[in-house]
Amino acid sequence: MRQNPNAPARARNFASDNWSGICPEAWAALEAANRDHCPAYGDDPYTEKACEWLRDFFETDCEVYFTFNGTAANSLALASLCRSYHSVVCHALAHVETDECGAPEFFSKGTKVLLVDGKLGKVSLEAVEERIHRRNDIHYPRPKVLSLTQSTELGTVYTVDELHAAGALARRHGLRVHMDGARFANALATLEVPPRSITWEAGVDVLCFGGTKNGMPVGEAVVFFDRTLAAEFDYRCKQAGQLASKMRFLAAPWVGMFESGAFTRHARHANRAAARLAAGLEALGLPPRYPRESNAVFVSLKPEWAEELRERGWYFYEFIGETGARFMCSWDTADVDVDALLQDCAEVLASAT
Ligand SMILES: *Cc1c(COP(=O)(O)O)cnc(C)c1O
Repeated sequence: MRQNPNAPARARNFASDNWSGICPEAWAALEAANRDHCPAYGDDPYTEKACEWLRDFFETDCEVYFTFNGTAANSLALASLCRSYHSVVCHALAHVETDECGAPEFFSKGTKVLLVDGKLGKVSLEAVEERIHRRNDIHYPRPKVLSLTQSTELGTVYTVDELHAAGALARRHGLRVHMDGARFANALATLEVPPRSITWEAGVDVLCFGGTKNGMPVGEAVVFFDRTLAAEFDYRCKQAGQLASKMRFLAAPWVGMFESGAFTRHARHANRAAARLAAGLEALGLPPRYPRESNAVFVSLKPEWAEELRERGWYFYEFIGETGARFMCSWDTADVDVDALLQDCAEVLASAT
C-alpha cells in the first residue's frame, strides 16, 4: 500500500499490526543479545531459553523452531504433516489459501488446499466433514490436515469448545490439526484461558505462533506438540532458507516479551484499542460487520467515504473479498489515534449527508 503524498503524515495507522515498530521489550532483548559473540544457527543460550519459555508457556514438552515469517512457518509446518498427494482443509479466507502465493503447495510439492466456508471466518464443521467425505477414492487428494486460524482472518476468535470440537472431528477422520496463530496472542488475551487449552489439549498438532504482529521485529515460532511430526524439520527450514545463522536475534525477543509480561500486555492493549474503535464507529452508525473479538474491526464503508478517509491520511485494508474495510490495531495504537480516526469518520459521514 503506497502512501498518498498529499495526505497528512500519521505516526500510527490502521492498515495492519505489522505496520507497527518493535516494542521496547523486544528491542531491549535484541540489544542484550547483541553484546557478545554467540554460537550460530540456534546453538546459543537465547534460543535455548526461548524454547524453554515456550515449553513452560504451553506446559508441555513441545519441539520449537523459529522462522523469519508466517508464510514460511505455515507452509513448512503443513509440508511436514503432508505428503504430496494429501490435502489441507481450511476456510476459504485462510491466509494459507489467499495470502501465501501458493507456498503451502510449493513446499509440500503438490499438497492441495481444499476450501470450506463457515460463518465469521471460522470453518463450519459440517462443511469440513462434507469435504472429507465428498470422495474417498484414489482420484481425490486425500484430506490429511485441518488448518484453523486463531484469531481468524475476520478478527473473530474460536472458543475453547469450538476448538475441541474441531480437534475431535479431525481425530475421528485421521486428520492432523495445524493452527495459524499469527495473532494467537490476541486470541489468548480475549479468551483468558491457559494456552494449552486452545492448543494441544484441543488436538492441535502444530502451532505457527506469531511474534511479529505483537511487537517483535521479525519471526514466528513453529511449535510441534506432537514431537514426532518435527522429524527433520530443521532440514526443511535450512533448505527453505529459513535457518537464521544469527538465530539469537529471532529468539531473544520472545524471551524479552515473556519475561517482561509484554507479550500479554501488548495483545490486550491492541484488543482494547480495537474495542474502543468498534464502539466509536458503532456510535457513528457504523456497526462492526463481525463481532469485535480481537484487534481487528471491520465495517462497511461507501467507496466515497473510504476515498475521503484515505485523503485524510488513513490506511486500512479492503482486500479480503467482500468483507468490508478492516481497521487493525497494534501494540502501540494510542487512544489519540483511535479518537482522531473517529473524528475524521464523523466529519466524512457528516459531509456526505
Ligand atoms: C500476517 C499473517 C501471517 C504471516 O504472514 P507473513 O507476512 O508471511 O509473516 C499468517 N497468517 C495470518 C492469518 C496472518 O494475518
